Amino acid sequence: MYVDLHCHSTASDGTLSPSEVVRLAKDNGLSAIALTDHDTIAGVAEAALTAQEMGIDFLAGIEISAEFPQPGTLHILGYGIDPHSPILRDLTTTLLAGRDNRNPKIVQKLNDLGVTITMAEVEAEAGGLVIGRPHIAAVLLRKGYVSSIKQAFDKYLAQGAPAYFDKERLTPRQAIDLICQSGGVAVLAHPIQLRTENDAQLERVVKDLVDLGLAGIEVLHSDHDDAAAAKYRSLAVKYNLLQTGGSDFHGGNKPKITLGRAGANRIPRELYESLLAKIA
Ligand code: AMP
Ligand code: FE
Ligand code: FE
Ligand code: ZN
Repeated sequence: MYVDLHCHSTASDGTLSPSEVVRLAKDNGLSAIALTDHDTIAGVAEAALTAQEMGIDFLAGIEISAEFPQPGTLHILGYGIDPHSPILRDLTTTLLAGRDNRNPKIVQKLNDLGVTITMAEVEAEAGGLVIGRPHIAAVLLRKGYVSSIKQAFDKYLAQGAPAYFDKERLTPRQAIDLICQSGGVAVLAHPIQLRTENDAQLERVVKDLVDLGLAGIEVLHSDHDDAAAAKYRSLAVKYNLLQTGGSDFHGGNKPKITLGRAGANRIPRELYESLLAKIA
């Protein structure tokens, strides 16, 4: 029995609707799924309903980007948050404002570089409230400025590329506090993307997050090979953290990722069960 605890829908920067993601999970033989859109839980009600119809288990989630020194990125997953929490509503408003401030700057920068796209095109591409760089990448692809989403990031949108602008982020403390105060459990997403220089630095980062209330670490992920997963697993054991796993599926915006697969591995249902036990 396998699960996927990290995936994105059209509610953020995935290309399948929440119910399409759940149907695909069922088709791929999964028995449970968590939807973890960036900065929003707007997709979870639809996904939960479809999961009920399909007879698979569903967990509400969110993924929040926190401040972290370049070139790394620190993403915190929140699981089991109460959708009616007023703290969550305020949190979402703050995070969306950070995006709304940044996105026009990226578009302006692209225009300055001779790439003629508009915010209206980006908004149409996104469809929903959460507008991210993958939507801008999709517009660049559609208009023929690049030949893949990856190329759009490499050439224009990635950290250090000419049209990159950072968005205002929460501190790790704020992100973890807000997840906990919304009734959720905080998990460090894809630790490989921290791009820490060595194991000692990685361990310090994890320890600091544990002191802030981190409850788990994403051991299985599409970017982790077996050696990386083994390293994160031993850190989880050492700091008494939950181990989670997910694909980080984004549909066509990350075409190499398959729902229900973390690289070469599938994600055992036990990871879902232990996460659920921590939430309940
Ligand atoms: P944003 O939240 O708007 O800053 O965009 C971040 C999202 O862009 C990540 O969650 C990924 O989905 C995607 N992303 C970041 N870097 C890359 C990359 N190099 N190639 C493809 N997608 C990326
Ligand atoms: Fe994303
Ligand atoms: Fe992430
Ligand atoms: Zn993600």
